[in-house]
Formats: sequence, C-alpha cells, structure tokens
Amino acid sequence: MKIVLASGNKGKIKEFEKLMPNDDVVAFKEILGNIEIIEDQDSFKGNAIKKAQTIYQKLVSEGHKDIIVISDDSGITVPILNNEPGIYSARYAGINASDKENNAKLIDNLNKKNIEKTKAYYTACIAIVYKGQVYTVHGWMHGNVINKELGEGGFGYDPMFIANGYDKTLGELGYESKKDFSHRTKALSLAKKALEVIV
Ligand code: IMP
Repeated sequence: MKIVLASGNKGKIKEFEKLMPNDDVVAFKEILGNIEIIEDQDSFKGNAIKKAQTIYQKLVSEGHKDIIVISDDSGITVPILNNEPGIYSARYAGINASDKENNAKLIDNLNKKNIEKTKAYYTACIAIVYKGQVYTVHGWMHGNVINKELGEGGFGYDPMFIANGYDKTLGELGYESKKDFSHRTKALSLAKKALEVIV
C-alpha cells in the first residue's frame, strides 16, 4: 500500500518506515518538495487533521489519485508545568528550535521548580485522509521526565523520558525497545485497523 506521510520530522519518518515495513511509505517532501504547514490548531487532533488535509489536497490538485495520506501530531505533556510543552513540543524553545534547545528549555523549567523527576506523557494523534474522508486515532505513553538527558537513542525528548515499568530513558533503551510500547506504535496499530476497513 502506498502511503504519503504528511510529516517533515526525520525522527518520525524513520519510526513510521520501521513500523510499516510492508507498506510503501513516502514522505510528502519526496513528491511535493517543501511545503510549510502552520500548526495553529489548539489540539494534537486539529493539527494532525490540518497537516493530512493540506497534503492530500495538494496531491489531488497535482493529479494524484487513490492516495492515502497519514499525518502524526505529537508531543510531550508535563502536568506540573501547566501541561507544557504539549502541542508546542516541536517549538518549545522557539520556531525552528532544535531538539537540544527544546530539551534545554524543559530542563530549565524543571530546575526552576527544583524538580528532578515528575509525571509526563506522550500523545500521538494520527490522521488519515482517504477519498476525501478524515479519520483520527490517538495513542499515549505514560512515564516520567527527568531534569537531564541520558542516552543518544530516539529523538526529541526521548533522552529525558522514562516510561512506566522501565528504569532507563528512551534515549538509553533505543528504538528497538521504544517501538514495543510507544504512543506512535499504539496510534499506528489503531490506524492500521482503520485502514483495513476503509481502503
Ligand atoms: P510535531 O511534528 O509538530 O507533531 O512535533 C512533535 C514534537 O514532539 C517533536 O519535535 C518532539 O519534540 C516531540 N515528540 C513527539 N513524539 C516524540 C517521540 O516519540 N519522542 C520524542 N519526542 C517526541
């Protein structure tokens, strides 16, 4: 199945390619080049739908037929920090901020409150657009964030996140462990079930 991924995030693209080994997953940039999509909705779901619909409409206007577009809007929520960074996870330290800069800001905000470790969770909303119809699913991963980075695996906030039931960060565990229980894995497993029904 050929699926166009409405994401420019290299970490996510890598994960999707590994999570969908039997599908032909293509990042939208390979077909359409650079398109800037402003993520101005007030929820993961709103932003996921906006990304998937924007790419779907562009592909259709360029004559592509029978395409499936999927997007992922995701992030990490830290309840004690008023649910920051949440939907602003990618640009917590500013537009175009690097993962390192976002992590540094989160560490800074934890340190300001003298917090070494606190509850946090990741959310992933996946939107599917097929034949003009939109479908959405969610997945979550619960655990704690710590006020330092450990390990080089994963991407984004992974070196700061310890999933429930583990004593190492996702940065230390690496993708092979993360893929068994991540928010993205859970959302994608629901998305695959939806695709079986709608396609
Ligand atoms: P989006 O591309 O606007 O959905 O932004 C997602 C942002 O949330 C990423 O840039 C990361 O900062 C963070 N994020 C989402 N999923 C993960 C993950 O699996 N690991 C680490 N960080 C993540």
